[in-house]
Amino acid sequence: MKPYKYYAGLTSQVGFCATPLRLDSYNRCQFSCEYCFASTRQGYGRNERLQIGNPTSLLNRLSRVFEGKISSALDELISHRVPFQLGGMADPFSRIETDKRVTLEYLKILKEYDYPVIVSTKSTKIVDREYLDVITESNIYVRFSITVVDPKLQAKIDRGCPPLEEIAVAAKELHTQGIPVCFRFQPIIPGHEQYFKDYLAVAYESNVKHISAEFLKCPIDANKKFGKSLKVILDDNPIQRYKDLGALKQGREYILPITYRAPVLAAMAKETRGKGITFGFADNDLLLHSDGNACCAASNLYLRDSNYFTANIVSLAKEKSIGERLYFSDFLAGWVPTRAISTYLNSKSRIAVSDSTQPEWLSYLQEMWVGKLGVFSPNYFDGIEITNEHDEHGLPVFIKTHSKIAELVNLSCTSTHPHNRVAEGL
Ligand code: SF4
Repeated sequence: MKPYKYYAGLTSQVGFCATPLRLDSYNRCQFSCEYCFASTRQGYGRNERLQIGNPTSLLNRLSRVFEGKISSALDELISHRVPFQLGGMADPFSRIETDKRVTLEYLKILKEYDYPVIVSTKSTKIVDREYLDVITESNIYVRFSITVVDPKLQAKIDRGCPPLEEIAVAAKELHTQGIPVCFRFQPIIPGHEQYFKDYLAVAYESNVKHISAEFLKCPIDANKKFGKSLKVILDDNPIQRYKDLGALKQGREYILPITYRAPVLAAMAKETRGKGITFGFADNDLLLHSDGNACCAASNLYLRDSNYFTANIVSLAKEKSIGERLYFSDFLAGWVPTRAISTYLNSKSRIAVSDSTQPEWLSYLQEMWVGKLGVFSPNYFDGIEITNEHDEHGLPVFIKTHSKIAELVNLSCTSTHPHNRVAEGL
């Protein structure tokens, strides 16, 4: 079995995510979710050879970094105490964990440093005794991913994963141990939104603190790669079904139009917040409307002694009030990693950086700022618009606005939500 060289790194969301640091135990997952992003995206699929992470290397890195020896952008983020997302690429608790126990070792090491960690899983293994003994009193936040679909079909879509009832039991156990839990309702299958209420009721009964939600994205090869049951739900032709709903192609995926997604998600947010649970909009273009100050997971509300990667467009905009302008130079006032980030990005996202007068990451942000790095320029995000103004370097100036679809929905952003269970100490 090969060692997993890239067991830690930065996610491709680094341009707009406050927690872009990922940690993976294995390079692939042994669940078989019918929509699986891991298997439909290139490079990390079920067909790759299995590689396993290296706890000793993680331990050495943390000990070196906290002795002040920093040699990479990854080290800089660690020394800044940006939370790790454990399971950023593949589920850290799939079958192989029983044998290899890499996740267990990672958790022990992170506990030693009280290092903040966000676990993403579909498994309930984390409440097995030996894991519970480690994570109790750890600086940890656990996110269970669940597909929003007719509950009768859930076992067919989340294939090989525990049913919702078992996840609810695990969530309650974690709550009893004082560990905050999030339910990630990701993905929501279009046409099945009405079942959200049932899932929310289970979340509420299980003392879940936070919910994030995101609609299914349809990869261009979905007609081939989606599983059978999911294809049936999507009229046996997911691409056509998405096109019929007005989806547009973004890179290698079809995305439902914001006019379809936003009203549904806003209604979900309202209902969730009404129950004292915080809400995160996990669709990239709606991220600004999430509770908390750390993207869709609101992890700043649930982890202690942690800092966030704020040198990104969404974090910058979250700091602004409606009507305030966003200048590229605002990034200079905040923390920016000085070492090269390009080594962690896939070759398609890399740019040729020739400007050695500023940290490489600023050159990336500048490319994004002017719309040269894919779709993610500032005004891609709902709540940011471009003005006619330019700064002294000729870079465009943006403005924070109410949601562009505010007439349709009430997308109020509540970073310190008054009914939040944390605020109420529940
Ligand atoms: S658990 Fe996650 S990584 Fe594993 S198959 Fe399901 S969606 Fe893919």
